[in-house]
Amino acid sequence: MAGTKTVLTVGSFIIVTSILFDMNKLNLFATICCCVFFFNCKSQNNKAMADHKDNPYYSRTDTAHLHVSDAEWKKILPKDVYNIAREKGTEWAFSGKYYKTDERGTYYCAVCGNHLFKSDAKFASSCGWPSFYEAMTPTSVRYEDDNSVGMRRTEVLCGRCDSHLGHIFDDGPPPTGMRFCMNSAVLEFEPDGK
Ligand SMILES: [Zn+2]
Repeated sequence: MAGTKTVLTVGSFIIVTSILFDMNKLNLFATICCCVFFFNCKSQNNKAMADHKDNPYYSRTDTAHLHVSDAEWKKILPKDVYNIAREKGTEWAFSGKYYKTDERGTYYCAVCGNHLFKSDAKFASSCGWPSFYEAMTPTSVRYEDDNSVGMRRTEVLCGRCDSHLGHIFDDGPPPTGMRFCMNSAVLEFEPDGK
């Protein structure tokens, strides 16, 4: 909460200074918007950290690659998340919490907090899993060949913690033509502005 107090103190100082020095109203409005935006970001991050207080590897700001054993993850992660993320499981189609979600926001890795997808890249797919046409950044995810269960597929893994997220197919919509077919259980959605 120290960070929140600092933001409020700095914000108040800027606003009072702006009034005293008679800055024009547009500048004052822009300053308030910046403070509110920064405050919201800090609040989101603080809540996410609190929700993962038993996971010392979880971070929405640290992008350093993680090297954590499955035995360690098993002690930390909920059973359904561990099964998909570390044992390459798949949730039932139409069963996940995000396959119909169309709110604006960001999808993070439920294991490590890495930024994975923006809602702008999500599209309504009939496959029953949340589907995106592109990852948030080129390093958000990485890929591996997957020749299991008698099929040749490309597996999608988290770029930070190497957790299994799903697979990618080339039957997606423009502009990429790709379909990231993901498991809801390893995603964490944060709506914009909350
Ligand atoms: Zn991750």
